[in-house]
Amino acid sequence: MTDTPNLRPATRLVHAGHARTPFGETAEALFLTSGFVYDSAEDAEATFQGSLTHYQYSRFGNPTVAALEERLAAIEGAEACRATASGMAAVHAALTAGLRAGDRVVASRALFGSCHWIVSTLLPRFGIECVFVDGTDLGQWRDTLATPTKIVLLETPSNPMLEIVDLAAIAALAHAAGALVVVDNVFATPLLQQPLSLGADIVVYSCTKHIDGQGRALGGAVLGRRAWIEEVLQPYLRNTGPALSPFNAWLLLKGLETLPLRVAAAGRNAERLAEYLSNHPAVARVWYPTRADHPQAALAKAQMQGGGTLVTFALCGGKPAAFAFLNALRLIRISNNLGDTKSLITHPATTTHYRIGAEERARLGIGDGVLRLSVGIEDVADLEDDLGQALAAGR
Ligand SMILES: *Cc1c(COP(=O)(O)O)cnc(C)c1O
Repeated sequence: MTDTPNLRPATRLVHAGHARTPFGETAEALFLTSGFVYDSAEDAEATFQGSLTHYQYSRFGNPTVAALEERLAAIEGAEACRATASGMAAVHAALTAGLRAGDRVVASRALFGSCHWIVSTLLPRFGIECVFVDGTDLGQWRDTLATPTKIVLLETPSNPMLEIVDLAAIAALAHAAGALVVVDNVFATPLLQQPLSLGADIVVYSCTKHIDGQGRALGGAVLGRRAWIEEVLQPYLRNTGPALSPFNAWLLLKGLETLPLRVAAAGRNAERLAEYLSNHPAVARVWYPTRADHPQAALAKAQMQGGGTLVTFALCGGKPAAFAFLNALRLIRISNNLGDTKSLITHPATTTHYRIGAEERARLGIGDGVLRLSVGIEDVADLEDDLGQALAAGR
């Protein structure tokens, strides 16, 4: 296997975790197999007893999935990683693998819709106390974490308002309360923010987003300390079965190779479009983490190496203006997916954040004129042209 610990991130994303077969293939091998065979009954017995290392069944482990896990761990700087079938499988497993009735979970309110559902609806069914706080309010975190807690879950930048949570400060408060800090790092990607180095214990990804980044496959990942991954997470995954398909793992491996190129190109486009939108009279407000007009720009710059690929903005004319604008777009497509090479846009109040209700949307600042733009890698001048003609049509 290519040994990569001293290599730089872009190099590790191309080479880490690649174990060539005796055929000497250039690309990563795709082990599209559900099971594995043993040379003898003794080998099978030794494998199940743990004295022989041998793949058993792809729900427990698979060489292509393992290559992805190793590459993700290398880029995150994590001791270990397990891949899952989707981002939600990763979030669900990271939370439930170690929780039991009577435990307490504290989460920032601004969470991806399904993460919000797990915390607000699923976990309480099993006797787990769940408390939401405003992720940007350190005082609320301090008060809430004065009570012993098992897990803190947060997302930064958050979806869709791109709020920034102070990772180092929350990690310190959470650890004092006895909690593990789980960070959903999807919006930042491993390239723009390293939660483990700021004190987080566990990082989760929807690999569906920037890691595939080409609209092809669902996938997820959980990263953290080896002891927690092997003793707490692995038995849970092995016995409940949210295993990633080897084929999807192979796609995601290839996605990782070009991740820095795509994130850099889309990030440059996003910065430019944020500036363009902020100067347009039909636009009431723009949110982009590292822009001077973002309320937490200083924190974003301190804990991230770039503002990312998403731009959120509000149109002056509310829902009618937002819908007229969306329907006038020609190049940028209406889709609730994000992190793609293609620019995609959604109206959170009627799609991704429809189910949480008007009251919770108001609390999160998700107005009826708010749009979330996931910026792709197209020529930015074409994206500007499309935004411009659609804003004119929507007025
Ligand atoms: C998409 C997403 C998820 C869920 O991932 P899936 O791969 O769709 O299951 C979780 N968190 C965030 C922030 C996301 O954007």
